[in-house]
Amino acid sequence: MPRNAPSRFMGLLAGLLLAADAAPALRGETAAERQVVIFNSAMDDERLAATREAVAFWNHTLAELQLSPRLAEAAVVVESPLTRPLENYAQRLWRQAGRISSGEIGPRAPRELQDVEGDIFVLLSRQHLMSFAWPVDHTERYFVAIGTRSNDPVANPVATHNVVAHELGHALGLTHNNHPASLMCSPCRSALIASHKGRFLPLTPAERARLLELYNPR
Ligand SMILES: [Zn+2]
Repeated sequence: MPRNAPSRFMGLLAGLLLAADAAPALRGETAAERQVVIFNSAMDDERLAATREAVAFWNHTLAELQLSPRLAEAAVVVESPLTRPLENYAQRLWRQAGRISSGEIGPRAPRELQDVEGDIFVLLSRQHLMSFAWPVDHTERYFVAIGTRSNDPVANPVATHNVVAHELGHALGLTHNNHPASLMCSPCRSALIASHKGRFLPLTPAERARLLELYNPR
C-alpha cells in the first residue's frame, strides 16, 4: 500500500481530520486505521453527509465487535484535478462491470491516485451509475463510486447512507448475501428494505462472524 511522502495533492485537500477514536481495548494487535478520502463536487452534496453516517456506522459496528480497524475520514476533496480522472476511471469500471473476471486487474487506476495517501477513495460521482466498490489495481486500497442513482428513490429504494455503507462493507472484505433485507444484500427486495429508510440495514450473523475472522487473527 503506497505510503508516500506528503503528496502534491495534499495541498489541495480541504481536509477534515477526525479526532482519534477513543476505542476501548481492542482484541486485534493494533488499532489499524483505514483512511477514507472523499472526492466530491460540492460541499452541499447530500451524499457527503450520508458517507459520514456510513463511516460512523462502520466504526460503531467494528467497536461493538471489539475489532480494529477503524475508518477515519482523512480528507474531503472538492473539485480537485483528480476528479476528472476518477470520473473516467469510474466510467471505465462501470462499463466493464461483470465482464472483468476475478484475477484480472481491469482498468488501471489513474496514475495520480498513487500520490494520494489513503486506503479507501470514495468518489461522489456526477454520473448516473450504479454504485460499486473496486480494489485499486489489485491492492488493498479500494475505490468506491457512488453514482447519482443513489439519490433516486425509484432506482434506489434504500437511503443513500445504506448504499455507501454497503460499498464500504465490500472495502472491508464482505461479499453479497441472499438475505433480501440486509445491508450486503444482492439482490435486495425493495418492499422489505423500504421500511429501513431512516436506518441502517442489518448485517447478518455470518457477516459479523466473517468480520471477526478477518480482523481478529488468531
Ligand atoms: Zn455490492
